[in-house]
Amino acid sequence: MNNNEIVAMGKQYVMNTYGRLPMALVKGEGPWVWDAEGRKYLDLVGGLAVTSLGHAHPKVAEAVCQQVGTLLHCSNIYWIEPQVKLAKLLVENSCADKVFFCNSGAEANEGAIKLARKYAKAQLGPDKYEIITATNSFHGRTLAAITATGQTKYQKGFAPLPQGFKYVPFNDLKALADNIGPHTCAVMLEPIQGEGGVIPATQAYLEGVAKLCREKGMLMIFDEVQCGLGRTGKFLAYQHYGVEPDIITLAKALGNGFPIGAMLAKEYVAAAFQPGDHASTFGGNPLATSAALAAMDVLLNDGVMENAVDMGEYFKGQLLKLANKYSFIKEVRAMGLMLGMELTIEGKDIVARCLEQGLLINCTNGNVLRFLPPLIIAKEEIDLALEVLVQAMAKE
Ligand code: PMP
Repeated sequence: MNNNEIVAMGKQYVMNTYGRLPMALVKGEGPWVWDAEGRKYLDLVGGLAVTSLGHAHPKVAEAVCQQVGTLLHCSNIYWIEPQVKLAKLLVENSCADKVFFCNSGAEANEGAIKLARKYAKAQLGPDKYEIITATNSFHGRTLAAITATGQTKYQKGFAPLPQGFKYVPFNDLKALADNIGPHTCAVMLEPIQGEGGVIPATQAYLEGVAKLCREKGMLMIFDEVQCGLGRTGKFLAYQHYGVEPDIITLAKALGNGFPIGAMLAKEYVAAAFQPGDHASTFGGNPLATSAALAAMDVLLNDGVMENAVDMGEYFKGQLLKLANKYSFIKEVRAMGLMLGMELTIEGKDIVARCLEQGLLINCTNGNVLRFLPPLIIAKEEIDLALEVLVQAMAKE
């Protein structure tokens, strides 16, 4: 099928939930993707921090092919070797002790919310259920996840929403302290807000949140769906801050494109879940966990995070140079290869011009250009992207 045929068929048959660009992608390799007309693009979106090792990573492809012909699926009423190995790997590389597997970020956050409430009611008291989240946060599209999400635009039209959520401004410790009430049992945050515009938590804030949680007996839940898994140059973003959450949620890059999510918890919290309390038919299936095991092996052992640190520094430095040149660049924010450039103007025209020139970037929150390159990106590829970006900006 050619590009127009795919787009037309999609418009007729696929539910209209996304503001899609009129192009169909058919192939990917490393940092590159190809559309149905054979045009090649440098991909600095990566499915929004999903294909962190680059497209079609050979080791992930091999693991999937090997597993698909061996055992595609069985049920979680049996043990699954790649699932238990992946759980061990995640525990050994985080502060958590136990893992629950699911299929997406929203599902991981649903699990986190349920676990936090189950734990709180049993351990802290039957009236403990409230979870405080941050304004401008994003936690996914299921009902509890949009309720946890501190942006009303995602909630509009879906009332009644689940009760027991409260929102406070991000990076504001006083606001958080002032809003802890008799029902509060947990605080849920992205260490770096992604959809909200690439906004890292400050060191003082996360330290303060951790201290407050300890003092008040509240759980600290980190949503690392976007910022976790090597993106910032460490396995998990919170590891930059020297604090330890009680619950962590992961998805996106975990399978390098294969759908899988995970909810990790400290033992004392995880123990609140008993058989029958929570489940997911496909969660932790042999295929997904084989893909993720291969992806995490590459991430941890092939120098990927070291490259993310080096290339992140380089990319950020170059973006800062652009900020000196163009007055409409308000701020550059970055940790590793999670980069955002806040503009005083809308970003969509720049994104469209980059697309025309074969560069995929994204704009979030209307005015923040977001760059989520694969962690294996090379300096020459960043230079190429910058050339296109400069041309696109020069037209402003
Ligand atoms: N949490 C964060 C921080 C995210 O960025 C996203 C997706 N953008 C989600 C949760 C939801 O993940 P999913 O789309 O896999 O449900």
